[in-house]
Amino acid sequence: MRLFECGSLVPGCEWHTRANDDAEIVRRVVEHMRTAHGETIIRENMIDNIKARITDEKNANAA
Ligand SMILES: [Zn+2]
Repeated sequence: MRLFECGSLVPGCEWHTRANDDAEIVRRVVEHMRTAHGETIIRENMIDNIKARITDEKNANAA
């Protein structure tokens, strides 16, 4: 599972999302940026910034 925390890009934002693939994460984050942060123009470097901050979520139960 992949995880994106908005706080890594927008300090103080508690929003986060999980999905199985990066494309789905990016789609949701772009929508969040538009609705929550008023980013009506999503630049290509914004997409890169999002992708750079997607992490693999550690499964706490696996150990
Ligand atoms: Zn946010």
